[in-house]
Amino acid sequence: MSMATIGFIGLGNMGGGMAANLAAKGHDVRAFDLVREALDRAETAGCKAAASAAEAVGNADIVVSMLPAGQHVRTVYEKEIFGAVPLSALLIDCSTIDVGTARAVSAAAQAKGLAMVDAPVSGGIAAANAGSLTFMVGGSAESFARAEPILAAMGKAVIYAGAPGSGQAAKIVNNMMLGANMIATCEGFALAQKLGLDLQTFFDISSKASGQSWSMTSYCPVPGVGPESPADRDYDGGFAAALMLKDLKLAVEAAQGVGASVPMGGHAESLYQAFANLGGGGKDFSAIIKLLDGSFSR
Ligand code: NAD
Repeated sequence: MSMATIGFIGLGNMGGGMAANLAAKGHDVRAFDLVREALDRAETAGCKAAASAAEAVGNADIVVSMLPAGQHVRTVYEKEIFGAVPLSALLIDCSTIDVGTARAVSAAAQAKGLAMVDAPVSGGIAAANAGSLTFMVGGSAESFARAEPILAAMGKAVIYAGAPGSGQAAKIVNNMMLGANMIATCEGFALAQKLGLDLQTFFDISSKASGQSWSMTSYCPVPGVGPESPADRDYDGGFAAALMLKDLKLAVEAAQGVGASVPMGGHAESLYQAFANLGGGGKDFSAIIKLLDGSFSR
C-alpha cells in the first residue's frame, strides 16, 4: 500500500508497539502522548514526536488512538482532533471503551464530515510489539476498507463487525464469555483436585470431552498442565486480571443499557473485582484459580 501520514495518539503499553510497527512499515508517524518517556521511545522507534495531539494530526491521512478509557477518547477527539485534522482523514480508535461512547464519538465525527471506525484489539502487549493483534472493526463498509491496510500493518487479522460501535460490542461480548469461561475452568480444576483427581489426567479426559474450552486447552490455568501458559510463569505477563475486570464492567454496563440478562458475566465481574481487591489485578487473569482454590496470597 502507499505510505500514509499517520497521527498516533497514546503511546503506552499497547500504542508504543503499534506506532513502532507503523513506522517500521515506512509510514510517516507523528506521535503524541502526555508522558515524555513514551514520546522518547516512539522517537527511537522511528516516529516523529509532536507537541500536542492537535499537532500530531494536523496533516494526517489517518489518525490512530490507543487511550485508556472512554473519557480520554471523548476528550482527545472533541478538544484536540476534530478541530485540527483534515476533513479527508480517517479516524481509527483502537482503545477498548464503552459502546455508548464509541457510538457518540463516531456520530460527532460524522456530524463534522469525518469518517471514523472503532477498532479495539484482541492480543496483549507482546502481540502489539510483534504486530500480531486481531482488530474488530465497527463503522461503514467504506471506512473499513480504508482502515484495513493500516490495521493489517499492526496485526494478523482485521475483521469487520458492522455499524459504528460494533467493534467494541464484539470485543466486550467475547471477553465476557472468556472471563466466565476461565472461572468455570478454574473452579473445575480446583474441584477435581479436592476430589483427588490427578490434574494432568483430568486435563487428558476433559480436553477431549465436552467440558473442553480455549481456557483449558490453549491457556490452562494449572501450572505444568496443557501448553505453556502464564500459569507456568507464576501467572506473570499475559492478560492482566485488572484488564479483564475492565472489560467485564464494560460488558455488564452495555448489557444493562439494552436490558440483556448476563448473570454469568455479572458474577465473573464480582469475582474479578474481589480478586483485584485482594491485590491480584496485576497477575494474569487465569490466576483467579488461586482465589477459587483458596491459595491466593499477596
Ligand atoms: P496504557 O495506560 O499503557 O497507555 C495509554 C496511554 O495513553 C498512556 O501512555 C497515557 O499517557 C496516554 N494518554 C492518556 N491520555 C492522553 C491524552 N489526553 N493525550 C495523549 N495521550 C494520552 O494502556 P494500554 O495498556 O496501552 O491500553 C490502551 C488501551 O488498549 C486500553 O483501552 C486497554 O483496555 C486496551 N487493551 C490493552 C491490552 C493490554 O494487554 N494492555 C490488551 C487489549 C486492549
